Amino acid sequence: EAKAAGRNTYRFYQRNMTEEAQKRLHIENALRRAVERGEFEVWFQPQFSLGTGAYLGAEALVRWRDPEHGLIPPGDFIPLAERSGLIIPLGEQVLDMVAAAARRWLDADLSIGRLGVNVAGPQIDRSDFVATLRRVISTWNVPPSVFEIEITETVIMENPDHGRRVLNEIQALGITTAIDDFGTGYSSLAYLKELPIGTIKLDRAFVKDLPEHPSDIAISRAVIALGHNLGFKVIAEGIETEAQRRFLHAEGCDEGQGYLFARPMPADVFENWLRARPPGEGAAPLSVGSDA
Ligand code: C2E
Ligand code: MG
Ligand code: MG
Ligand code: MG
Repeated sequence: EAKAAGRNTYRFYQRNMTEEAQKRLHIENALRRAVERGEFEVWFQPQFSLGTGAYLGAEALVRWRDPEHGLIPPGDFIPLAERSGLIIPLGEQVLDMVAAAARRWLDADLSIGRLGVNVAGPQIDRSDFVATLRRVISTWNVPPSVFEIEITETVIMENPDHGRRVLNEIQALGITTAIDDFGTGYSSLAYLKELPIGTIKLDRAFVKDLPEHPSDIAISRAVIALGHNLGFKVIAEGIETEAQRRFLHAEGCDEGQGYLFARPMPADVFENWLRARPPGEGAAPLSVGSDA
């Protein structure tokens, strides 16, 4: 009896694992085709000074426009792209798309500030990553200061020596860097102070329940103080309410991005937003946005 049940259970699992594996393979093949066909687009979410409200730059966020399933958010395919290695060509496409847009906007005399680009672990692990950056800059003839490379705290800490070398080389190119999702990993403070980074991005997880949650108050306060003491700028992500904005500003946080100000927008909508923006520092950010 037990033996038979065990065998059935085994078969059941085996069949399910096979289905699971097949499904994964199917998605991976679809993703590979999408990379070959260039089915990705980059959306832009503006970032602002919390002090003056001035626009300072935008974060580039990739989306997959699948002909069958429509717009797919990065959380649904970036992990698979990383596991399969497809993040290498995909990440390069993102850099080229951002640089191409920057070239267009600079030619149109639009003030774009810096454009943050997210970069995954497998990308910076490759010895040719910095050469790729150099190639993109020269292909599109954009100043390196247009880019701000965002690397998550976890990726840097996975291999701190390599992380520091890459960050140094990126800085030497004239590109600024930001530590993304700060507070979610395990940074060694002794290590942080040696890193050539410009900005720390306080993770949305700690902003979400401000200004009510005592632990989030303590964490965001500590991150802002630590960042400033080490000479970094601090930007908070995921600001959705005026109360969050007010609290973070009062705590000295330099910059913010979030639905309160603007949602990520397709490139053409972002371009129109840039054009319509009232000129001059201190202009109150408009609350605008799209679906994703
Ligand atoms: P991230 O780099 O931390 O990006 C911020 C995410 O927070 C974005 O989600 C953005 O749309 C979302 N967000 C911004 N403001 C708010 C807000 O007020 N409320 C809420 N609830 N969310 C807000 P998105 O676009 O879905 O991207 C998710 C993650 O995917 C990014 O997190 C980043 O880790 C990754 N990602 C995006 N684009 C790329 C890319 O080109 N390459 C790589 N390697 N990863 C990317
Ligand atoms: Mg980011
Ligand atoms: Mg982030
Ligand atoms: Mg995040």
